[in-house]
Amino acid sequence: MTKHQKDLNKLCVHTITTKPWSLEESLEHYAASGIGGISVWTDAYAEMGPAKAGELIADSPLEVVSLVRGGFFPKATASERAKAIEDNKRLIEEAAALGAPLIVLVCGAEPTQSLSTSRAQIQTGIEALLPLAESLNIKLGIEPLHPMYADTRSAVSTLNQANDMTEAIQSPLVGVVVDVYHLWWDERLEAEIKRAGDKDYLFAYHICDWKVPTEDMLNDRGLMGEGCINVPQISDWVSQAGFSGFTEVEIFSHRHWQSDQSEFLEKIIKAYHTHA
Ligand code: ZN
Repeated sequence: MTKHQKDLNKLCVHTITTKPWSLEESLEHYAASGIGGISVWTDAYAEMGPAKAGELIADSPLEVVSLVRGGFFPKATASERAKAIEDNKRLIEEAAALGAPLIVLVCGAEPTQSLSTSRAQIQTGIEALLPLAESLNIKLGIEPLHPMYADTRSAVSTLNQANDMTEAIQSPLVGVVVDVYHLWWDERLEAEIKRAGDKDYLFAYHICDWKVPTEDMLNDRGLMGEGCINVPQISDWVSQAGFSGFTEVEIFSHRHWQSDQSEFLEKIIKAYHTHA
């Protein structure tokens, strides 16, 4: 059975996916390919600043889907936790300057304390951001990370935990981000996607693939179709849950970064049609 060609207008690429390109180059190439969205990593505008980046994006046909990434709330001391909250407040202002409606949160973890303590600090940290997020209308998306990152990157490892935290916080600006790389293995994934969709807090959807074997814990993600994740199955669950936003390609890969980025972008579009 052949699938219909998907709408490129609903495809978003993360700037880190084509990391060798500047923000200007990414905007130019994505737009020329008919891609509809861009998610911007902070390093992409570090030199020019968020206001200038926001102007460049506004002048392009691309829609900015999210700013990546905030978070890293758990810390061993109160002063470090307060600083993390201040850093995230600055990021909310940067998102507003960029025109990004959502900040993706990599929530963090502190290896000297328990995961449950870290999760409590994450919730407290997000709650401390709400007044500013509300005043600038910026959403905050909790992205669970694969448990191999539970040491330092995220004490939130499952969509169940992210959904529980979202429902405990009870703000329309707080929701979850589903990334197939982090969640594909979870037997509860379909049910938890449905739960988030039913309650209208499924904010974003990220895709790539899990290479077999994976040679680097961080920078060896695969293009869709290169690994063992049934991305189309998860995409079906996400759309059945009522999600109608962008499908975002987020790939950190030394292998792909070393390749010709224009050819890589063509492969991304092809894989989006055939393996997403
Ligand atoms: Zn992601």
